[in-house]
Amino acid sequence: MPNTRHFADVTTAATLEQQRVLWREHARLIDWQTPFGEVLEYGAGARLPPPFARWFVGGTTNLCHNAVDRHLKDRGNQVALIWESTEVERTETWTYAELHREVVRAAAGMRELGVQRGDRVLIYMPMIPEAVFAMLACARIGAIHSVVFGGFASVSLARRIDDARPRLIVSADAGSRGGKVIEYKPLLDHAIELAVAEARPAHVLLVNRGLAPMKTMPGRDVHWAELRSRHLDSAAPVEWLESNEPSYILYTSGTTGKPKGVQRDVGGYAVALAASMRHIYDCRPGETYFCTSDIGWVVGHSYIVYGPLINGMTTILYEGTPLRPDPGIFWQLVAKHRPVAMFSSPTAIRTLKRYDQSLIRRHDLSSLRALWLAGEPLDEPTARWAGEWLGCPIRDNYWQTETGWPIMATPAGANPHYGSAGQPVFGYDVRLVNEENGEPLDNAGDFNHKGVVAIAPPLPPGCLQTVWDDDERFVRTYFHSIPGKLLYSTFDWGTRDADGYWYILGRFDDVINVAGHRLGTREIEESICSHAAVAECAVVGVHDEIKGQVAVAFAVLRNPDGIKDAAMRMELEGAVMRQVHDQLGAVARPARVHFVTGLPKTRSGKVLRRAIQAICERRDPGDLTTIDDPGPLEQVQQAHLG
Ligand code: AMP
Repeated sequence: MPNTRHFADVTTAATLEQQRVLWREHARLIDWQTPFGEVLEYGAGARLPPPFARWFVGGTTNLCHNAVDRHLKDRGNQVALIWESTEVERTETWTYAELHREVVRAAAGMRELGVQRGDRVLIYMPMIPEAVFAMLACARIGAIHSVVFGGFASVSLARRIDDARPRLIVSADAGSRGGKVIEYKPLLDHAIELAVAEARPAHVLLVNRGLAPMKTMPGRDVHWAELRSRHLDSAAPVEWLESNEPSYILYTSGTTGKPKGVQRDVGGYAVALAASMRHIYDCRPGETYFCTSDIGWVVGHSYIVYGPLINGMTTILYEGTPLRPDPGIFWQLVAKHRPVAMFSSPTAIRTLKRYDQSLIRRHDLSSLRALWLAGEPLDEPTARWAGEWLGCPIRDNYWQTETGWPIMATPAGANPHYGSAGQPVFGYDVRLVNEENGEPLDNAGDFNHKGVVAIAPPLPPGCLQTVWDDDERFVRTYFHSIPGKLLYSTFDWGTRDADGYWYILGRFDDVINVAGHRLGTREIEESICSHAAVAECAVVGVHDEIKGQVAVAFAVLRNPDGIKDAAMRMELEGAVMRQVHDQLGAVARPARVHFVTGLPKTRSGKVLRRAIQAICERRDPGDLTTIDDPGPLEQVQQAHLG
């Protein structure tokens, strides 16, 4: 089998035949109920034209079986899930046998509520074990889950309900963040009201944590505990799915206000995760894995829930912030549960860097073989600082909601190249191309020469199959943005050095990355523009020492003369921020809203977001020959920097 540990021989320029050999081998890492025929159906003779690809054709399998049932024989008594909540001060554990029982109960309950194979189930939950049970229960019965990050508010949620048309929504009375209770139920009820009538769910299943009073709607709302008690001994057999049936939808922000439903398959995803746990993260069954993400993000799907469980590991679900009860909590949890690998974000580490380092030294971190960081660029000082204080290698990995698992990573055992996201991972044919014609850039070592990071199709197993309910958008958005070539665009600029290490230089579309959370500037703009006082606005991502980027808004008021003084200005800024908070959620709240009398635009009326961003970051705004009027750009500078 190809040497996957150092990625190199199965990455760029791998032929389809090499890919087939590689993935046939990796497919052994999971259980198949019926063996697959062709490893990959792609190109001539395939039932779908490129770039659509079908992996492990005809094979039947199930994510829940691979994550839970198949371990019962050898690992029934091994802890599968540890829930640590510093919010409600609880620690609980489930062995694989106990996890199995809870998942079967949840699956049987969902069946009672009419959920069938192919139905969508939207999960809007805090970081509680029932969220994991619900995800696995969906996978078990072939329902397609769509987990929506608990930090999103009603309007974001309603858009996702409209698109997914769920039969069931699973939620809770409330979450808690930094000790503050955040009620979910009123947000959810409001979102369901906002959603189109045809998309509203038949039922809402609610975990009552006793954190907030909950009004329930008779006939629609069902209590988790009651449903569970009716199914203590029910059976819920695994539904065997063809490898290419959808397993889940996960919405992500793009360049339009409408979020895209990234649709994942079953078999390819299971195989890719199994391979990544072994050959990227270097983890073995029986070991413990600690990923600090949230189940609402792709990292949580892949490396809190499915990846570690498919690999027979113990996974830690952490409800809490990195700072409470003190900024040593991550390290305290490492010392307590002894994970071999930890997965977090550069923002979390940059935040912790500001605090007393003795909070690290007092904990035994000797179990850690590596700290993996992803979601945003990892700067060299942060990587060095973490390596020094934690005493283990710090490894970057670069990927996207769309891919479901890393496109690039620092191979275990290799020397890190600080600032680099590593090398392309096995199975990905990654190319650095000219954005105008898709021609390869032969620029190894030339850091002045950036290109588009692109992937030649077929995308490897586990990557998005399509955009939910919109094949045309899938092809147009991802494969037609680089003229002249059928290439998947990551929408990231990149470059690489002479050793084959890649450097990710940031997005070139209107997606920004705040503390590792991906946000579409258009969604925030729409929310700001829905404020009665605002005529138009532009939102850009501006560099921030801790969060990587923050959203900064420039708004033109309908009646600029209505703002008489600084106090009124501040009040309005607060009101606009609150509106974004209430509609989209705390994650989307801009750091600043500046009021200006005009936005810098081209003569054809396009807002010059990139110039605004450059000015805010004290960079050269570049070529401004198409600008209609330089006045607004000066206002931007004055407002943000002045
Ligand atoms: P998301 O879909 O939320 O995972 O966001 C994906 C985007 O985050 C990518 O397109 C990159 O812009 C950025 N990103 C993710 N991981 C890294 C990394 N390791 N280094 C640099 N940028 C990253």
